[in-house]
Amino acid sequence: MKCWVCTRQARGYGHTDGRHKTGDPRRYPLDWVFCSRRCQDTFHKLYANWADATKFGKEVVMVDASDIEIAAMKQCLKAFGEVAEIIGFDKPLGAYSEDEALQVIDAIVTCYTDAMINAHEAAKFPPVQGLSKPVSDPFADLQNDLPWEAQS
Ligand SMILES: [Zn+2]
Repeated sequence: MKCWVCTRQARGYGHTDGRHKTGDPRRYPLDWVFCSRRCQDTFHKLYANWADATKFGKEVVMVDASDIEIAAMKQCLKAFGEVAEIIGFDKPLGAYSEDEALQVIDAIVTCYTDAMINAHEAAKFPPVQGLSKPVSDPFADLQNDLPWEAQS
């Protein structure tokens, strides 16, 4: 299971949809899983904005999720460059030790997941994956109220 926000492995943060009874599969949306409290909070904020906008008939401009991914990848060029500089720009990839290769991967993965969370935190509405009109909109069957029990 991947975190809905940053695509890291989810770690037990999820949601139950409080409008459905216990045992009803709709009570446990499978996609709504998160790696951290930070990602869960980000999802709450995006969803609440989306629900409000829909309720008041405002137009919701959604960003394509792949645009966020491409922007996140571009941000990782700097992290990649910094590690490559430490290892040495002249060293061919084939000559990297496993440890050096892992340093590069760690720098990129860390940068990528941070960039994904930052992009979602800065966004107003949830992004859509790939299509301008999603075929299986995860919010399609939802009313305008928040599907989880409000926390105070
Ligand atoms: Zn996450």
